[in-house]
This record gives sequence, structure tokens and C-alpha cells, in this order.
Amino acid sequence: MTNEQLSALQSYVDAALPLLGLGGWRVKVIRDSGPDEHQATLEYFHGRREAELEVAGDFFERVARSQRELLAHELAHLVLAHLDLHARGRELRDVLGGPAFELFQLGWRQLLELAVDTLEPLLVDILVDRLPGPVFPVSAARPDDRHDFREPS
Ligand SMILES: [Zn+2]
Repeated sequence: MTNEQLSALQSYVDAALPLLGLGGWRVKVIRDSGPDEHQATLEYFHGRREAELEVAGDFFERVARSQRELLAHELAHLVLAHLDLHARGRELRDVLGGPAFELFQLGWRQLLELAVDTLEPLLVDILVDRLPGPVFPVSAARPDDRHDFREPS
């Protein structure tokens, strides 16, 4: 991820947050930390309205629609972050105990993902309506691999 890509992605996320009812959050885009099976990860923290977003190396080679869907998915996780933090909290672990907590977590993660998948297209619609782009700089190192970043008109 180049500095220009990092900066452009940060600007897009900053603009998207208030449109999605997430204006109270600060999301810091961080550089990808190497090979990872995840397309993107969003990490949020107890007691703070702060999160870190990391996207996979091929993010900037994707078409805009795919980039928008990926970002909408991660930001849908942020919509549900307080629920998730509560469900993963130490209080619940202490009451349930280890095995019951782990069993609960298995179901919780699946249900959370279902809820996120339901929210994702709604967030995409909002982004399409209210935010131009995304148009991010492509990776200079692989100019021949890039897809068409322009939106169909
Ligand atoms: Zn997800």
C-alpha cells in the first residue's frame, strides 16, 4: 500500500462514517501486515470508539464496486461493534465459564456475520447514493494487473 493509497482510503472511510451513522467513530486505516487469508479486517476496542481497518494487498487492484462492498461489510461490523464487544466481554465469560462461553462464541460469530451480510447491501446503497467513488490510486508496481476502476456510467 502506497502512501497515496493509504491516504485516499483514509479519506474515503472518513467521509463514509457519518453517512452510515458512524460519525462518533474514528477508523484508522493501517498498512497490511503481510500474507493473510482475510480480504480485510476491522479491529475495534472496548471503551473506545476507535477501530483499525486493514485491507489485503490486492484491494487496490479490485474494481470500485468490489472495493465498496468490502468496505461496507467492514463498516457494517462497526455498526454492530458494541453488541459484539458486549458478547465477547469478560463479564459474560466469567459468568458462563470457558466451555459454555466458547460454545456461545461459535454461534455468536455466525449470527453476527449473518447480520453483517444483511446490513452490507444497505450500506452499499447509501455509499452509492451519497459518496463518489471510491477511486483509489492503483499500485504502481503492478500497472498491468489493474482492473478498470471507473464506474459504469
Ligand atoms: Zn464479516
